Amino acid sequence: MNCIFCAIAEKQAPAEVVFETDATISFLDVNPMNYGHVLVVPKKHFADLTALPHDVIPELFQAAQKVAVAMVDALKADGFNIVINNGRAAGQSVFHSHIHVIPRYNTDNFGIKLHLKKYPEGELPRYGNIIRQSLV
Ligand code: AMP
Ligand code: ZN
Repeated sequence: MNCIFCAIAEKQAPAEVVFETDATISFLDVNPMNYGHVLVVPKKHFADLTALPHDVIPELFQAAQKVAVAMVDALKADGFNIVINNGRAAGQSVFHSHIHVIPRYNTDNFGIKLHLKKYPEGELPRYGNIIRQSLV
């Protein structure tokens, strides 16, 4: 399979690796939203979040938390965003599951909360019902 993140996990492609566990590898995004933006990636190939086995999720998310704490400390960041783009409509471009950990600064002035809507009357509980029904 021709997958750049598999190649990085197998050390067949270059990456600036910052952290590694048995099942995960974390490296710098080559096109960062801010410098130090890290991608936390399972070493095995899963296309997206929905394909991740439940036993991989804790190790992956723990790695993201650890990287985020170290990043904030090392870069003197004021906060961070955890982002998962799932599916082309959501902006996913590499179809090997990954978590973005993005350092944020009080002064960086870019909004990640774009296009906030308001529910018309009655629509909020209707959406709640639809999603709850899909979960049973
Ligand atoms: P997404 O759009 O959520 O699928 O994120 C994919 C990310 O991978 C993008 O932010 C790219 O900049 C990044 N990326 C693609 N190829 C590489 C690579 N070889 N090394 C590091 N980051 C990469
Ligand atoms: Zn892959």
